Amino acid sequence: MTIKEENYWLETVTTLPAQSARDLPDSIDVAVVGAGFCGLSAARTLATRGVKVAVLEAETFGWGASSRNGGMVLTGMKLPVPTLIKRYGREAVRKMYAASLESIDCVEQIVREENIDCNFSRCGHLEVACKQSHFDGYEESAALVKREFNHALRIIPKSELRGEIGSDIYFGGMVDETSAGLNPARYVAGLAHAAQRAGASLYDHTRVTSVQLEKNNGARKFRVQTSKGAITAREVILASGAYTTDATPALRKKIIPIGSYIIATEVLPAEVARELSPRNRMIYDSKHFLYYYRLTPDNRMLFGGRAAFFPETENTVRQSAEILRSGMIGVYPQLRDVKVEYVWGGTLDFTLDVMPHAGKIDGMHFATGFAGHGVAAATWFGAKLAGLICGDPNNIPFDGIKFPAAPLGLRSGNTWALPLAGAWYRILDFLT
Ligand SMILES: Cc1cc2nc3c(=O)[nH]c(=O)nc-3n(C[C@H](O)[C@H](O)[C@H](O)COP(=O)(O)OP(=O)(O)OC[C@H]3O[C@@H](n4cnc5c(N)ncnc54)[C@H](O)[C@@H]3O)c2cc1C
Repeated sequence: MTIKEENYWLETVTTLPAQSARDLPDSIDVAVVGAGFCGLSAARTLATRGVKVAVLEAETFGWGASSRNGGMVLTGMKLPVPTLIKRYGREAVRKMYAASLESIDCVEQIVREENIDCNFSRCGHLEVACKQSHFDGYEESAALVKREFNHALRIIPKSELRGEIGSDIYFGGMVDETSAGLNPARYVAGLAHAAQRAGASLYDHTRVTSVQLEKNNGARKFRVQTSKGAITAREVILASGAYTTDATPALRKKIIPIGSYIIATEVLPAEVARELSPRNRMIYDSKHFLYYYRLTPDNRMLFGGRAAFFPETENTVRQSAEILRSGMIGVYPQLRDVKVEYVWGGTLDFTLDVMPHAGKIDGMHFATGFAGHGVAAATWFGAKLAGLICGDPNNIPFDGIKFPAAPLGLRSGNTWALPLAGAWYRILDFLT
């Protein structure tokens, strides 16, 4: 069977796509650039609070990373806690960690309130140790997380690992029961409908080409030029993630777009699926160049990783299928004869300091840098930016932290620099 170079999740979406609004109005309270989790969550909150909001999306609603990801709704941040504390101080990191937990509650609440049929489940996540030294560090990490954040992580010694995963290649694991899983394409489709029901106007195939701040007698407004005409807005939210373009060059300079790829197998017999992942966890390994994997609700193995560092193209997607298949068989030799039915790719919004950021840039609100935590984080940040516009106090602990720009080669996502970054991660995996 030939592998479909398509996003498996999209084939599971059963609701009709949200309706695109008609012509752009001349003016609006808030213009949101990008209809992923972040933009749609912001629009939903704004519209619920009576603000006139238009979401401008270059492609279709949810087209970016939000419909293509692993659907893992994860606690914590990408960087290890000691690094975070050293960099930002204990108090700030406590707030950041609390925000990561709150963001999962935020997704759960939206799913419940809006009745979104996306298989949300608090199934927990499992990190598996690729080296003995990684496993040896788990005890200390769990103790630190308990002490600093009063959050429990459970260590799984190698002798008990079969109760969590049907693989013998790892040295042990660490479980966080708070994390969740969902079907991201169904979730983002549900968010679009929810934003629309609340009163937001959504415009697909409407690419923002420039944004100008205009000041007139002390009053300020933004003139947002799009492929479908211009609109003026009192406030603008940039929620364009890894797909941010030179229409907003100041933000573009800050983002490192990194490709990530996923395969999905044919549907597995229930007993095989149960053996691979007895507790249906969201699983990722302890490497820098990591694999992440899970079962889909219909019992396919969905297996992802940075098979290539470049953002997705037809070539990188095709090459990734074989790379990921051999990675998957390395973890699960029992899948050797199982067919891979789908392969697709997407682009992650990394930043140089591997942190999420929010704030204002050229007078516009933005949030980005969610990397592999964007399902929960982008939803939460979107709601928070909307709250700020409505006058809520600013309690986003990532707002105002230093936000370094990406070096020139890394920000285009299409140069010699990304394979070098990939090589660097492989060296780190060898050394650490
Ligand atoms: C393969 C893959 C696997 C991942 N796995 C996970 C995971 O398991 N768990 C997790 O938490 N995170 C994961 N992530 C990350 C997560 O998907 C993202 O962080 C999150 O979706 C970002 O949401 P967003 O709304 O900020 O951006 P996006 O969903 O990328 O949306 C941005 C939108 O902006 C639009 N846009 C850009 N420029 C313009 C413009 N000029 N005019 C109009 N529209 C514009 C784009 O078309 C796009 O639709 C993964 C990402 C990828 C690619």
